[in-house]
Order: sequence, then structure tokens, then C-alpha cells
Amino acid sequence: MQVNTGRAGAILRIDLQALRANYQILKTQLGSAACGAAVKADAYGLGAAEAAPALYLEGCRHFFVAHLEEGIVLRPLLPADAMIIVMHGSPVGCEADLLANGLTPVLNSLQQIAAWNALATDKQTRLPAFVQFDTGMARMGLSPAEVDVLRAEPQRFAAIDVQYVMSHLVSAEDQVNPVNREQLEKFRALRALFPAAKATLANSSGIFLGKDFHFDLARPGAALYGVTPVAGQANPMRAVAHLQGRIIQTRDIPADTGVGYGSTWRSSRPSRIATVAVGYADGWLRSLSNRGAVQIAGHDVAMVGNVSMDTITLDVTGLPDDILAEGALVDLLSDQLTVDRVASAARTIGYEILTSLGHRYARVYSGSEPISKTV
Ligand SMILES: *Cc1c(COP(=O)(O)O)cnc(C)c1O
Repeated sequence: MQVNTGRAGAILRIDLQALRANYQILKTQLGSAACGAAVKADAYGLGAAEAAPALYLEGCRHFFVAHLEEGIVLRPLLPADAMIIVMHGSPVGCEADLLANGLTPVLNSLQQIAAWNALATDKQTRLPAFVQFDTGMARMGLSPAEVDVLRAEPQRFAAIDVQYVMSHLVSAEDQVNPVNREQLEKFRALRALFPAAKATLANSSGIFLGKDFHFDLARPGAALYGVTPVAGQANPMRAVAHLQGRIIQTRDIPADTGVGYGSTWRSSRPSRIATVAVGYADGWLRSLSNRGAVQIAGHDVAMVGNVSMDTITLDVTGLPDDILAEGALVDLLSDQLTVDRVASAARTIGYEILTSLGHRYARVYSGSEPISKTV
């Protein structure tokens, strides 16, 4: 579909060249370990249909989604040598859908192991899988007690080709947190259950914890899309998402005038207000009300008043008229206005800013080409 940026209220530019460069940064950091990619939640809101093929071109062959349905949608977009791993595993009774779509499950429970083993036995074959251990997240994966059951009864996975064991780090972005090492030691011990399997532990931040955490394969998501992987340090990643919203109106108001729902901001002097066509329905979170900052032609501008469904309001008092024309574009996400900076103003994390990005934006992709041209 042709994207009409001229009539769009806001334009989201997604720089696949930056995504590809970020993949190479992580790959270099990993050395000999392989670099996969988490493309769940539509590649963190940026578009899995575009991001996954671009990452494939950089050599990525392991793609992680959360839901089975995400894997089914992604499968036809990637060549057969790309492994697509469904981290939630199979919903109960849907194991055959994974097989039919060439998807690899993460097995998180004894029930999932039993169902996958039964399907493999039925098909008289061995079926590939990842097996996840819970080393501290208490969210998904086998508990230590379940691991004991498997140790005592290895026939439970007799027909499963356990290719990778997996676990997930709780606080990897906090490099000095002792929980990182504790999880590493637990994971190392649990690996003994599947001595032939490869291992994967690190998310984006885990990659920066050093070689001990790399094992055979990493599963970065956020850093690929520009989110900073190490708290409190300079971000080595390039910005992938660039967002601009259009000024749809400006007005001059006297002192002591309320702006927006609830008049949560009042002018302390005669002011000029610009209204921009981006709101919380577009993922510009309401928690940015009276806290967010944007830029117009390089000038920092404060968001004032509550974020509305379709608009935000800016205090543009004193800025030159020519940059405030109706139709002018305002930067909301850029190399300066990073996802992390917006997240901190919104009191959330960059992940939520990205995955909230709305579907009303005119989305413009650059910096990659179809796989078929090169493979
Ligand atoms: C989302 C997710 C990842 C990717 O994490 P990032 O912090 O975005 O790099 C890796 N592994 C699991 C299990 C996940 O849920």
C-alpha cells in the first residue's frame, strides 16, 4: 500500500539500516555466539514483516515470537532455514499447528513436554524444541521440582530433540546486581539435564554482561530497536524509530488560561499553544501529560496540558512563526529525542514506548530490500 505522508497526521519512519547496524553491534559483542532476534509483538511495534527479513539479510537465523499466531504470520516471510521459536510454546491442543507451520516451541511445562512428545511419537519422529528453565523470574519455564521429575523419568522427552535449553534474566540491565550471577550458576547446573543441547540465556542486556552469559545463542530484542541495553551508560545502539507529528492549529491565549482536559496546565503569561495530531490513541502515553518534551526545528518544546486521544498541546511561546505554520512537523522521536528519554518522562521503559506506537501513523520504511533479491 502506498503511504501518503502528505495527508498523514503523523509519520513514523523506521530505519532498517539502523536496525541492521544494531544487529552487527550485538553480533560483534557476542563474538562466536550466534545472535538471534526477538521479533515478538510485531518487532516491538516496529513491524515484524519488515524487521525480520532485514535481520535475516544480516545473518540472523533464530527469530523469537511469543504467541503461536505471531509465528504463523511470520513463517511465509522468512526462508526455510530461519528457525522461528514460539516462546509461549503451544496453546493446549494446538501442537499440530506448530508442526504444520514449521515452528519450534519453547516447552515451559511438563504438560507442554508431554503434548510435544506425544505428537512426535504419533508421527514416529523426533521433534525439535527449546526447553525453558525458571532460574528466578517465576514467570515461565520448568521449576526445579519439574526438572527433578524429568531427571527421574527421561522417557517423558524420549521423542523430543531438545536443541536448546533456555532461561531468562531478571535484571540484566543492572550489571552489578548479584542476581545475574545467581541465575547464571543455576542455569549452568540445570544444563546437565540435557548435556547435548545448546544453550541460550541472554536478552539484549545479558549480551553486555560478558562472555559467561553468551552461551551458544543470544535473544536480543530491545537493543536491536534502539533501546539502551545497560542502565546508566551511554547507549551504543542507533535509533530505529523516528516519529514526527503535524501541527494542526496554533492559538494565542492570555495569561491564566487552562489548556486541555481538566485544565491541568494554566498559562502563567500570554502564551502560544500549538496542537499536534498525536495522542494517547497513537501510543503517546497519557502519563506524558505536562511531562513530555518534543522538538520543533531543533528547539526544545514542552508538552503542556493532558494528552488527549488524538492530540497533544505544546507551549510554543516565543518561537519564530515560520516553524509553527499549520502543517509543520514536530519531532517526537529522533536521534536526540530517544525512546529512553521519552520513557523516562512517561515513567516507563523504552519497551513500552515502542510497543505502544500506534497504527494511525503513516509508516515509512527505509534501508533494506526484499530477501528474494539476494538469496
Ligand atoms: C522479550 C524476551 C527477550 C528479548 O528481551 P530484550 O530485553 O528485549 O532483549 C528474550 N527472551 C525472552 C524470554 C523474552 O521474553
